[in-house]
Amino acid sequence: MSAPPVRLSRRTGPRGLRVSFEFFPPKSDDAEASLWESIGRLAPMNPTFVSVTYGAGGSTRERTHSTVARIVRETPLQAAAHLTCVGASRKEVDEVIRSYYAAGVRHIVALRGDQPGAAGSRYEAHPDGYRTTADLVRGVRAIGDFEVSVSAYPERHPDSPSFEHDLDVLQAKVDAGATRAITQFFFDNDVYFRLLDRVRSRGIDIPIVPGIVPVQNFKQTAGFARRCGASVPQWLADRFDTLDEDPATRRLIAAAVAAEQVLDLLDRGVRDFHFYTMNRADLVFAICHLLGLRPSAAVPAEVTQVDAA
Ligand code: FAD
Repeated sequence: MSAPPVRLSRRTGPRGLRVSFEFFPPKSDDAEASLWESIGRLAPMNPTFVSVTYGAGGSTRERTHSTVARIVRETPLQAAAHLTCVGASRKEVDEVIRSYYAAGVRHIVALRGDQPGAAGSRYEAHPDGYRTTADLVRGVRAIGDFEVSVSAYPERHPDSPSFEHDLDVLQAKVDAGATRAITQFFFDNDVYFRLLDRVRSRGIDIPIVPGIVPVQNFKQTAGFARRCGASVPQWLADRFDTLDEDPATRRLIAAAVAAEQVLDLLDRGVRDFHFYTMNRADLVFAICHLLGLRPSAAVPAEVTQVDAA
């Protein structure tokens, strides 16, 4: 007997599955076209939300804003804007938050951010700015009825003296009003479950959504991982070994690696997934398909044909 057809509700997939997608603001017309193509391809997967990052040091303030505002204007997707405390006074950050509210945005991903300049530079809060992420979360909540997501670190943040300190910081963000945490990416699922155990044993009960990065380019991902304190297991390096000149095989391996990771998380009870898309849809689309999601006709046709101009 064949299985009954799975009915997708607006934002929940089979077995209560929820996905969200992260994009970065485009720098050129070509990049803009490819971003909108990716949004159009992934929109029918009915994400809970799509988010747009904020460049290091606040360097993409306008581009982040215009991308998020356009998503709100032209698609039925829930858009979330990333926002950091870096390089701006509290007054300036509050203006950005208010302009998001006015544009119809109701979800902020609140972050401390990093000092612009050399990697690893010590973080210095702006003298008139939000000093910590928890302060920023409080500021966002005071301005409007926003959902606020924050970060969490399965492998310890590079600035942090200990996991316990990371948990103290997460607790402070939750106490300030954060409603969801999205993790830094990781490749060993056990580190995610260790974080989850620690978080739950503290009594923190917000969703801790795993951040998944499909390895579109191993060297780039490994470099990024080094900078943000995520470990790259030797088995992962081995899988991409000798494939530098073979992009077609690399893509197949990347799909297999990501499939293995998300299906293991799914088997172990995870239902929410946040994908770092790198503005490329194909791999993420394939992984969503593997998770059991199917494009929904519920998304109006215009979203899948977003004008890239
Ligand atoms: P917090 O959560 O405030 O702190 C992270 C950890 O750093 C803490 O747990 C704590 O242990 C340690 N720490 C913080 N301050 C101190 C201190 N003064 N002394 C000692 N330890 C300290 N960056 C961007 O620029 N733009 C983005 O759009 C963006 N999006 C992100 C999305 C996600 C889901 C994640 C996980 C990260 C993102 N980042 C982004 C990166 C983030 O800005 C950096 O990781 C930054 O270093 C920390 O910001 P945070 O909000 O995670 O910091």
